[in-house]
Amino acid sequence: MLKHILIVEDEAAIREMIALAVSRAGMKPVHAADVRAAQEAIATKVPDLILLDWMLPGVSGIDYARRLRRDDLTRNVPVIMLTARGEENDKVSGLDAGVDDYVVKPFSARELVARIKAVLRRSQGDGEDGNVELGGVRIDGPAHRVFADDKPVAIGPTEYRLLYFFMTHPDRVYSRGQLLDHVWGGNVYVEERTVDVHIRRLRKTLEPFGKENLVQTVRGAGYRFSAIA
Ligand code: CA
Repeated sequence: MLKHILIVEDEAAIREMIALAVSRAGMKPVHAADVRAAQEAIATKVPDLILLDWMLPGVSGIDYARRLRRDDLTRNVPVIMLTARGEENDKVSGLDAGVDDYVVKPFSARELVARIKAVLRRSQGDGEDGNVELGGVRIDGPAHRVFADDKPVAIGPTEYRLLYFFMTHPDRVYSRGQLLDHVWGGNVYVEERTVDVHIRRLRKTLEPFGKENLVQTVRGAGYRFSAIA
């Protein structure tokens, strides 16, 4: 899936440079000149990674990083901080705030892209090739195929995205609203009921292989994907 990289940087020239590097690396750059624009972008679609400038107008990058960590939507989104030389001493406070990595300005496009890819690999735990396996179900990311006990599974595109999200975030409960934000993207108007429909379809898809119980309903809370009954 195309990785969305949110670039929160007030200096337009630097933002453009980063955006170009990101799109050349086959990822989708999303621009934000300040925290407000960043929040709007996140409400539209939760990004796969956030590049965050240390010095932003009005609010420091570090305070914003803390806020991102507290927010349910962005809690698990990796953050790379962009710092000016001399700010390295502040790294400790950045790490406390939950920042995943640092890039010191001026940096090369190549260096930045390498760091983005390394952090994405680390955070998603699905390896470079996007393969993920749990409870006898395996997703071959590059091939966009699903196998259950090595037998191919015919699956619809939304069910595929839903399964991929679940399998890369196992054993955690997600509300219908959270699943909508992560799997459908917040800008699409979809009723929460739609989630139930696709959950039902996903279970039906897995049923012939006896894997439907991996998709678990948590009463009053939402859904969870887990190999533990
Ligand atoms: Ca700045």
